[in-house]
Amino acid sequence: MNPVVLITGGSRGIGAAVVTRAAAAGWNVCLTYRGDEATAHDLVARARAAGVDALAVRADVAVEADVEAAFAAADAMGPLAGVVANAGVVVPKARVDTMTAQRVADVLAVNVVGAVVTCREAVRRLSTAHRGAGGSIVLVSSAAARLGAPGEYVDYAASKAAVDTLGTGLAKEVAGEGVRVNVVRPGIIDTDIHASGGQPDRVARIGPAVPVGRAGTADEVAAAVTWLLSDEASYCTGSVLDIAGGR
Ligand code: NAP
Repeated sequence: MNPVVLITGGSRGIGAAVVTRAAAAGWNVCLTYRGDEATAHDLVARARAAGVDALAVRADVAVEADVEAAFAAADAMGPLAGVVANAGVVVPKARVDTMTAQRVADVLAVNVVGAVVTCREAVRRLSTAHRGAGGSIVLVSSAAARLGAPGEYVDYAASKAAVDTLGTGLAKEVAGEGVRVNVVRPGIIDTDIHASGGQPDRVARIGPAVPVGRAGTADEVAAAVTWLLSDEASYCTGSVLDIAGGR
């Protein structure tokens, strides 16, 4: 039976690229999405065409019960062996001296609380301390965690720094229980997230200033994520991998 991987925010962008690569590598895929059902179901059809089982579950990672339901759906597909905590949101450009508490809370609810709850459900299934068979968790952070995103979205950057620390601590917590935990930190990647944060020109504007001279693709991030999921990365845990073109 194929191993199962659950990918949050797997319907578009980086998550969708991970779904495509994981399906090609023989993983059964459970992906979550928040609202765009048609795109999610189209991706499921393509994954199935690659010869694996695939399922899309509507789940807002900021809602604990949604995350629990998504994992329950994945359980029905077979033994879980991988989890990618990818779902994340950016917010409109703003300086800290204009931010409302509600805005910051909304970012943290998805990017931090959502990631922690996703990890909790993952560990409850993968850890040998919970009678699991081990597995791999990959957290999707951002280069913003070390750059700080001044004048743009320092709150988002801070949320991703929390994701880095979550990965570092959780990796040590479960290293003796068969679970590897790693973090990827993409730089500027060509996806819809920039438009959803009110900056549709961000890739065109910042891409050329990246040391390698361009923005990255979702597939370039997915390649690293699927390697970290695989047994090829068997001695890799607690790592934070920048995929940022030298930025
Ligand atoms: P994207 O293209 O906007 O796709 C976001 C995905 O997450 C979609 O599948 C979306 O579902 C889902 N989603 C959004 N909010 C959600 C929520 N509250 N609960 C569950 N799912 C939710 O984003 P992306 O660029 O691929 O970003 C993916 C991750 O990479 C994020 O964590 C982001 O912070 C990180 N990242 C991105 C970049 C970049 O430049 N693109 C750089 C660094 C880090 P729907 O389709 O239903 O809306």
